[in-house]
Amino acid sequence: MTNIKNSWAEPYKIKMVELLKMTTPAQRKKAMKDAGYNTFLLKSEDVYIDLLTDSGTSAMSDRQWAGMMLGDEAYAGSRNFYNLERVVKDVYGYKYLIPTHQGRGAENILSKILIKKGDIIPGNMYFTTTRLHQELAGGKFEDIIIDEAHDSESEFPFKGNVDMSKLERLIKKYGAEKIPYVSVATSVNMAGGQPISMKNLRELRALTKKHGIRVIHDMTRVAENAYFIQQREKGYEKKTIREIVKEINSYTDGATMSAKKDALVNIGGFLAVNDWDVFEEARNMVVVYEGLHTYGGLAGRDMEAMAIGIEESVSDEHIRARVGQVIYLGQKMIEYNVPIVKPIGGHGIFVDAKKFLPHISQDAFPAQTLAAEIYLDSGVRTMERGVVSAGRKANGDNYYPKLELVRFTIPRRVYTQAHMDVIAESAARVYERRDKIKGMKMIYEPKYLRFFQAKFEKLT
Ligand SMILES: *Cc1c(COP(=O)(O)O)cnc(C)c1O
Repeated sequence: MTNIKNSWAEPYKIKMVELLKMTTPAQRKKAMKDAGYNTFLLKSEDVYIDLLTDSGTSAMSDRQWAGMMLGDEAYAGSRNFYNLERVVKDVYGYKYLIPTHQGRGAENILSKILIKKGDIIPGNMYFTTTRLHQELAGGKFEDIIIDEAHDSESEFPFKGNVDMSKLERLIKKYGAEKIPYVSVATSVNMAGGQPISMKNLRELRALTKKHGIRVIHDMTRVAENAYFIQQREKGYEKKTIREIVKEINSYTDGATMSAKKDALVNIGGFLAVNDWDVFEEARNMVVVYEGLHTYGGLAGRDMEAMAIGIEESVSDEHIRARVGQVIYLGQKMIEYNVPIVKPIGGHGIFVDAKKFLPHISQDAFPAQTLAAEIYLDSGVRTMERGVVSAGRKANGDNYYPKLELVRFTIPRRVYTQAHMDVIAESAARVYERRDKIKGMKMIYEPKYLRFFQAKFEKLT
């Protein structure tokens, strides 16, 4: 019986449900207009299936909820902090922990400590908050991801890889002393959740070691990256996700973490480092920006839920089902000929808006437009990852990223396969009437991270 599939299924059953509100086309039309055609400005109650982000939107387990009841809300030295510290050391392998309210809190502290004015921070593609904190600290981000990452057609299995020759050129040009660290992300978000290979991480470690440069890991989705290494990289087929995660981290000197993604909590993050000096400074600085170093802006119960979530996040069954669901949605879209970034990434499907709406120029915001159209069709909320998200350079010019994408991000353990069908069908319906869709103009633009709050109007 060789043709019987060995399907993944959710390694949990449902104990409680949250009812969803269905909307009419007229209601959605009004809601979208009121929101300035920015899906970030929609009210959640007007949304049917919410794929805006996988950040803080995961469903916690009964064990995590039980952990919430064990919160030790002492101002200093909460028991939950020590639990979290133990799990971070155990599962991730980093020595010292500073909790923060979420990922950007850790980025702020780390950037302030390590970056001096005029420094260069190479990274495998930018991330919005990460780059902004690097710039606010006086640094300049330089992209060193391989060219394949910018090509939505390339099926290279590790599109998150660092191009070592790009890094070497930067070191030669600026000198190692101008490069405080290399910022390396696993499951590169802006490239479509594309993984970096273990081989590449090993090479990065060797090169940076030679020049005395640190590697700081944006480990927001490290477990999802580990799954792709297990599936695609020779020598890792038999290793557990837990083992792979630990090996990835072993090639880096520290990490910033948004626990709202991989770690299955609704709020939380941390900075973790192996260097005592950096830790000491960070432990002091966290008091200014987040809170005492044994809570960093979190309640004790949040830290407990995070500690339990981290353990659950590196289970092989969990990750197989998690990524399996994303791949299921991607394959449905491919069946409907909807152009998506391939290979399918770990946390969502990225629709290629330049290919979907080739008649709309980047100045008329094709991805922003498409996200609005998907919502109007079905109440499914997605988000733009293109020219709006990329923002402006220091001189005021727009960044024009090669990738102009709409992200369908899948929250962990929240939606079912039937929801995935409904989502793919909506994308297919909008694709059928793509010729009739016109672009938009921006009518309000905030100074920082404009994609969150910008407003638009339809072009006629
Ligand atoms: C979400 C995210 C961050 C920032 O974390 P927050 O918890 O949202 O502050 C940083 N890096 C990546 C790759 C992310 O996805």
